[in-house]
Amino acid sequence: MSGCTVEGSVHGPFHRLSFLRGTPMGVAQMSVYRVGDTLIDTGGTPIGPDLVAALAGDPPRRILLTHQHEDHVGNVALLRRHFGALPVHAPRQHIVIIESTTRVPDYRAAFWGHPEASRGLLPYDPGDEFDTGGTVLEAVLTPGHTPHHVAFVANVSGVRYALTGDLYTSKPLEAWYESAAEDMAASHRRLLPKGSMPLVVLPTHGRVKEDGVTLLREAADWLDREAERVVRAAASGPTSHRALAGTLYGHLGPDVADAYSGGEISRAAFVRSVLAPVRTLPASLPT
Ligand SMILES: [Zn+2]
Repeated sequence: MSGCTVEGSVHGPFHRLSFLRGTPMGVAQMSVYRVGDTLIDTGGTPIGPDLVAALAGDPPRRILLTHQHEDHVGNVALLRRHFGALPVHAPRQHIVIIESTTRVPDYRAAFWGHPEASRGLLPYDPGDEFDTGGTVLEAVLTPGHTPHHVAFVANVSGVRYALTGDLYTSKPLEAWYESAAEDMAASHRRLLPKGSMPLVVLPTHGRVKEDGVTLLREAADWLDREAERVVRAAASGPTSHRALAGTLYGHLGPDVADAYSGGEISRAAFVRSVLAPVRTLPASLPT
């Protein structure tokens, strides 16, 4: 065991396994989801032994990945060693990254661990569907957190469930350096159901959100409003992303995330996500 606290919960046909782990930098929490024979995302390597233990009684027969980051793909190789040569489906554009990345910056490794590279992944594309044995998951293109990010969506008994990976964040100003604000707002709206169907948001990090319609609408509207402010400030103010972030958000105090992440998670990255949205990988750091 790796010392995690594991919490299980059920949301329609989905089983969530949430792993909490103490680190010198605070508690790291990440989730994976199970529906039928399929596991969605695999967490980071520090939770590997607990994940294997949690799945051992009824191992999955297939893995779907929402995107390339180490807290989603880290345990693919481990799960294959324990449960056989599972087919693993990943966004087409992310496969080369997943198959070659074995190191991440130290602050990320402290939270999520270095990933173990895994070979022979199968590409999928937005619009593809996966029948998990009763529940059909649709891959929906949802860039914004990172290019080519995918959410998996299923409509079950009049309820829409969205496995949103890292698309939704409750702290949008602590933006990831591969972000694109306009794309993120559009992705939030793309997940909304038609008519009055309720939406349950099942994220990797943070709690499950039962009122997903309001949550994603308000998040998209916030992004639109804040993007307007950034554009206005850029028209008459300083030119670097970091200086603009200081002008707009300095009253909030020091940007702690910027300091510990070397700019990968920062208000400057949010400003850049508006003014120069990232749409290809790899991304540079904000200026
Ligand atoms: Zn991510």
